[in-house]
Formats: sequence, C-alpha cells, structure tokens
Amino acid sequence: MTNNNHKNYLIIDLEATCCKERIITREAMEIIEIGAVVVDAGTLDVVDEYTTFIKPILNPTLTDFCKTLTTITQDDVDNAIGYKEAIEAFKTWSSQYEEYLFCSWGDYDKNQFILDAKLHNLDYPFNEEHLNIKKAFAKQQNIKPCGLDRALAHVGLELEGTHHRGIDDARNMARLMPFIVQSS
Ligand code: AMP
Ligand code: MG
Repeated sequence: MTNNNHKNYLIIDLEATCCKERIITREAMEIIEIGAVVVDAGTLDVVDEYTTFIKPILNPTLTDFCKTLTTITQDDVDNAIGYKEAIEAFKTWSSQYEEYLFCSWGDYDKNQFILDAKLHNLDYPFNEEHLNIKKAFAKQQNIKPCGLDRALAHVGLELEGTHHRGIDDARNMARLMPFIVQSS
C-alpha cells in the first residue's frame, strides 16, 4: 500500500480514563494522554513527536486499574491542562505538518476524539481522513487484526517503552510503518 497524497503520517495513541470492571461507560471515558509521532511518508523516518497529559472532568480520580495499565499517575492528570487548552496546543503543533494523514491502531482513538469534542462542545479536531493502521497492518501481513504487542512480535520487533502509554504506543506504531506502507 502506498499513500502519495500525504507528506506525513500523524500517528496518534490516546490513553483514557477506564476501569477493569468497565463501570465507566464508553461515553464517560475521557482522554488523559495524547501521544503523537510524525512519520515522513516518503522516507518513513520519525520527524517529530508530541505528548501531553489532559485533566479529565467526569472522573477526575484515576482508578488503580487505569494507573497500573497506563503508568499515568494522579499527579500527572492533576497537574495537566484541560481538553480545550490541550487540543489547541496540539493543533498548533500539528499544523506545522499540514499535509498529514491521521493514523491510529484501530478506530478507538478517532472515536475517543469524537466523544471528547462532544463533551467539550468543540469540533472534532481532524478532517474526515483516517487510516486504521491495525487493519492496514493485518491486510499487508495477511494476518487477522491483532494488538500492537502481537504485531511487533509478528515482525520480530520488541515492544519499546511501556505498552499503554500513549507516546510509547505511538512510537512503536511508527516502527511498524515500514511493514504497512511503502517508502518512496
Ligand atoms: P491502549 O491504546 O491500548 O493503551 O488503550 C487506550 C485506552 O483504552 C486505555 O487508556 C484505556 O482507557 C482503555 N483500555 C485499554 N485496554 C483496556 C482494558 N483491558 N480494560 C479497560 N480499558 C482498557
Ligand atoms: Mg495506548
């Protein structure tokens, strides 16, 4: 698969409030971290990255499950900015890479942005284009869609950093891009 329409891939991985028993409904989940990596669509080199924590409003106290899963601490979110401010800063940063394609592992991240935007009465921060790289990887490798950890193992890569930390997940996805799209 090639993509000649975009200069960059903007790979985003979100972490959100959650709990093991799933008492938090899907609608009540809120972004607590945006992890993002920009990959040059021609060379597939990483050109930039960005991470920010976001203070949730519906469930401001993180569950033990969430803290263990993500390694994000209560202090991280207590000291963080709110969604509106965070998304403005994120958009300012990402606007340097005007011709980018928003990519994520599955559709979860896209849908989480839709939920947070609605909660804060703001617009969805991207255009309608989105590449589900979980699906693209599965198609390219001729396997069933799988988790990021299994995908890395499938191509003989070790997971770097902490799985379920947004920035580390995004960095690991960037390492998979050569197995998903062609460089030019
Ligand atoms: P991930 O990008 O896989 O780290 O997941 C993104 C978000 O989905 C996490 O921050 C959690 O809010 C939620 N999540 C992921 N795995 C689980 C799980 N096993 N149980 C409950 N929520 C989860
Ligand atoms: Mg993640």
